[in-house]
Order: sequence, then structure tokens, then C-alpha cells
Amino acid sequence: MDLGLSGKNALVMASSQGLGKAIAKELVKEGANVMIAARREERLKAVQDELSRDGQGKVAFCRADVKNEEDLRALVQETIHQFGSIDILLNNAGGPPAGGFSEVTDQDWQHAFELNLLSYVRMIREVVPSMKENGGGRIINITSSSIKQPIPNLILSNTFRLGIVGMAKTLAEELAPDNILIHTVAPGRIATDRVTHLDQDKADRTGRTLADIREESEQQIPLGRYGQPEEFAKVVTFLASDACTYMTGDAFLIDGGLIRSI
Ligand code: NAD
Repeated sequence: MDLGLSGKNALVMASSQGLGKAIAKELVKEGANVMIAARREERLKAVQDELSRDGQGKVAFCRADVKNEEDLRALVQETIHQFGSIDILLNNAGGPPAGGFSEVTDQDWQHAFELNLLSYVRMIREVVPSMKENGGGRIINITSSSIKQPIPNLILSNTFRLGIVGMAKTLAEELAPDNILIHTVAPGRIATDRVTHLDQDKADRTGRTLADIREESEQQIPLGRYGQPEEFAKVVTFLASDACTYMTGDAFLIDGGLIRSI
């Protein structure tokens, strides 16, 4: 199947590691030009070198904290300056801290709102004009399997991810006349630092080992293992591509069958 990604311009948020980096890598392999962005410049430079080695498209990087509105504006301007336009936006950010309702403070709520909801809102607002001018585009929002089933001890994630689902479903109709398609993707237990961090947090709280927590967690997944970032990235790459033209506004689990609801 020709994904038609060659020469397309993509902006992938929070892409210095984990899911964002894996998506950037897959897009570059398919010939897209990709702007990677995160907070640490030296880390971004290393990722740029790695992705440029085995990809077809160009890789550029720009330092940006997704919680900083000025950074986001500058990032979008820099991407348009370097590539001429933005065809694909991949919204992503780090996960909020773990914790139950009684533990998190107003400051934690505010931080998670800015990190996991407001940053997505701002990025969509910034890129839509370029997409409209170009005759269309793709917006993909990374959330969590918690959009289908809340995860214990993750009240902040469980709350703000659902805001993205509601926003994307609403925007699907608003953006469709401009041929801008929007999707939500929901990872469940893809082996990245985030998942190791959450498993370690559980191990510390329960006095068990990390290996024990992981084994128990893998037993809950019908496919019996954690996913690899590349497996997640391939689905996202399809959604971002010209091969996917008659879907918008929906949310997709990529979770090895973890969530049982229909
Ligand atoms: P990760 O921790 O491996 O990577 C997070 C990325 O976000 C890093 O590149 C980090 O530098 C960047 N980042 C963090 N804060 C930032 C900020 N303020 N500005 C710019 N960049 C920032 O996590 P991941 O597993 O790749 O997950 C990506 C997102 O998906 C997270 O929100 C995570 O909670 C969510 N998620 C992941 C899984 C999974 O199975 N991996 C499951 C559910 C939800």
C-alpha cells in the first residue's frame, strides 16, 4: 500500500523518546519531513542524527515546552519556515504524575490541564490555518487506554484524556469541510519509560519488585506482553497517511486487547 507520505510535512510533539520518537521515526522512514520537539536540545539533536540515518525524509528539531504558549507559536512558525507547511500534527506530551483524588493538589490539576489538554488545544489552533491553506491535513492526539476504562491511581490522566476525546469528536465536524481529519489514539501498555515509571511507582507503593508488577500487568493483556513503540507508531502512521481518507473524529485503542469493553 502506498501511504503517500513522501514529501509530507509533519510536526511531532514530545518526540525525544517513547511514543513520539517512534512515530517520528516511522514517518521519516515513509519519506515525510518531520519536525521533532521536546524540552532538551541535546537529546533532540541525538534523535535527529538517529532518525536521519535510516529515514527518507528530512528531520529538523526545535526546543519547545508544551506548557509554554510562546514556545508552541515559535515551534509552528519554525516548522513552516523550514518545510513550507504542516500537513500532519501529532499532539503528544509527557504523562501527568500518578496519584489518587485525595493526594493531588490544585497545582497538580493545573499542571495536568496545561500539559495534557491545553497544549493540544493550542497546537491545533496554531496549525489549522496552515492546513486550511494547504487544502487539508491530519491531526492525531495521543491519549491513553483510560479513555475507555479509568486506570487506578491516575486521576489526572483519567480526567484530562477524556477532554481530548470530546474536543476531537466536536472538531471532526468543524474541520471536515476543510479536509482536515482528526483522530484520537489510545495506547495501553506500550513499553516506554513512562510505563516503567508507573510500574516502579506501583512496586514502591506495594513493596513488590518491578519484574513482579510487569508480569502481573502482562497477564492482564490478551496478547500477553507489552507492545513495542514501533507497533503503536505504525497504526498512527497509517492514520496520518493519504491511505486513510474516510475516518474522522474517532478514538482507537492500541492496547493488545487490554480493554475488554465493546
Ligand atoms: P515517555 O515518558 O517515554 O515520553 C514522554 C515525552 O514527552 C518525552 O519525549 C518527554 O521529553 C516529553 N515531554 C514531557 N513533558 C514535556 C513538556 N512539558 N514539553 C515538551 N515535551 C515534554 O512517555 P510515552 O510512553 O512516550 O507516552 C507519551 C504519552 O502517552 C504520555 O502522555 C503518556 O502518559 C501517554 N500514555 C502512554 C502509554 C504507554 O503505554 N506508553 C499508555 C497510556 C498513556
